[in-house]
Amino acid sequence: MLNYILKYEEPLFRPPSEAYSLILQLTLGCSWNKCAFCEMYSSKKFILRKEKDIFNDIDKAAGYSNDIRKIFLADGNAMVLSSGKLLKNLDYLNDKFPKLNRVSAYSIAKDLENKTIAELKALKDAGLKLLYIGIESGDDELLGLINKGETFLSTTKNLLKLKEAGIKTSVMILNGLGGKTYSGQHARNSAKIVNETQPDFLSTLVLSFPYGVEHYKKRFKGDFVEMNPIELLQEMYLFISETNLESSIFRSDHASNYLSLKGILSRDKEKLLQQIDFGVNNSNKGILREEWQRGL
Ligand code: SF4
Repeated sequence: MLNYILKYEEPLFRPPSEAYSLILQLTLGCSWNKCAFCEMYSSKKFILRKEKDIFNDIDKAAGYSNDIRKIFLADGNAMVLSSGKLLKNLDYLNDKFPKLNRVSAYSIAKDLENKTIAELKALKDAGLKLLYIGIESGDDELLGLINKGETFLSTTKNLLKLKEAGIKTSVMILNGLGGKTYSGQHARNSAKIVNETQPDFLSTLVLSFPYGVEHYKKRFKGDFVEMNPIELLQEMYLFISETNLESSIFRSDHASNYLSLKGILSRDKEKLLQQIDFGVNNSNKGILREEWQRGL
């Protein structure tokens, strides 16, 4: 899209569903940057960008086209900004892009802690319609071991605030996050947290090791035993079977997933479970993605 006209501080990440959005960096890096599994911003110092630099970027993009309808606020947690600053940015965006109909961002649950429901509603009215939140797990022990800096309660409380304010949520759970030792509690409590928060969108990604499994083991504060593809699918089976979701749209089709799954959980739960079961029982027949078959 128009992203080539702005000069970004790399590395730059966005969710797959924001492929056609203008990406605007309000902050650089992640203010937490301590999760054991995450290397996204480990090379980047966290910075709040100056307002004049952000507005310059907006002017530059608007000078090229004011037809933009979707904007994604980067980097890892633009929601760390105060409600007042976010509102000022959103007002400027609305001013420059009259057809704008959706602004979204990644968020950490704790960034919402000091925002009231009235403030969140004001942000939603100014165009902030969707937040992507990596819950990773609903299990408090595992959240501690990966140094997420969140608990079942802190995440639940802040996600429910978003629901009340009318801001949609897209949440991620990490399959295999605790390895074999913590698999059962991870699956059950992750189902529990999504049941409690009823996100609009739910996806699962598989834990990956960009710097190798030994690097992850050093950062993980427990006993990590890597899971094989079948065990990962069994964890997924348990997770899905324990969900009780009204209308969440589920996706497990990221490149890291070995079995591509999609559906609305209230309607398609049994079908998804059958697909996982079929994948487990026919893993040697080309059902799983090639990389998984190599790992069997
Ligand atoms: S909060 Fe998100 S971006 Fe920051 S370190 Fe954790 S997973 Fe990575």
